[in-house]
Amino acid sequence: MNDRTALVTGANKGIGKHIARLLTSEGFTVYVGSRDPERGGRAVEEIGAGARLLVLDVTDPDGIARAAARVDRLDVLVNNAGIAPSLAPPAESGVAEFRRTYETNVFGVVAVTNAFLPALCRSPRPRVVNVSSGTASLTWSTSPNPQFTPGSGGAAAYRSSKAALNALTLYYAQTLAEDGFKVNALAPGLRATDLTPGAAATGDDPAEAARGALHLALLPDDGPTGGFFSWDGTPVPW
Ligand code: NAP
Repeated sequence: MNDRTALVTGANKGIGKHIARLLTSEGFTVYVGSRDPERGGRAVEEIGAGARLLVLDVTDPDGIARAAARVDRLDVLVNNAGIAPSLAPPAESGVAEFRRTYETNVFGVVAVTNAFLPALCRSPRPRVVNVSSGTASLTWSTSPNPQFTPGSGGAAAYRSSKAALNALTLYYAQTLAEDGFKVNALAPGLRATDLTPGAAATGDDPAEAARGALHLALLPDDGPTGGFFSWDGTPVPW
């Protein structure tokens, strides 16, 4: 199929921009989701052929509806937009911080996914990739894994938002399996992006994480659904 389409939310920079670029190189027409038209426009220019700007703030219901109305059929949705405003443990995080984080990382994913479901249902092979985080793994959080700062209970709003996203990934996968959907969560690994200012020296190349998203976006019909996978394809424990 040469006319496949994809949407990547938060694709104006970071991991999302790399995912969008990789999808265009696979022949997709890619809607580069960006809440800021100028930043999104620059990313579209950088990515080049196949990239289209789609102004999309995942916390803005009216904007999501306008964006969804522009897309007739969608083969791949990558829910990548995310924020990590604080590293605080729960006792030092106000409810407002949880609300703000969940608004983007959880409610934003539900709103965008539901708005684009009709377009996804027009695809013969719909794929949804939710960009989660290894820090959301409750198993890793109780058996500290060297991939992230272990066990401290820090970044509670962010990590619990991604744990909620993991649960939603499973529920979407279960309810949409009969329609041919594959819905999976990706742990991209620690990457040097604006989200992780402290990781500039230690974070790995975000392009490598994007290849993990591409793999989940291109899953064959007998591929997994309702799973949580690292960027290199290995399963991550919930
Ligand atoms: P990033 O460079 O900060 O990119 C985040 C993207 O999300 C930006 O394009 C940002 O747009 C967008 N965004 C934020 N809020 C939005 C909203 N309300 N509506 C639409 N777009 C919004 O961070 P990144 O590292 O590439 O993160 C991408 C994803 O990977 C996130 O879900 C993050 O949680 C996940 N992740 C990253 C790492 C890592 O080590 N970097 C590790 C695990 C998981 P603006 O430019 O407008 O702010």
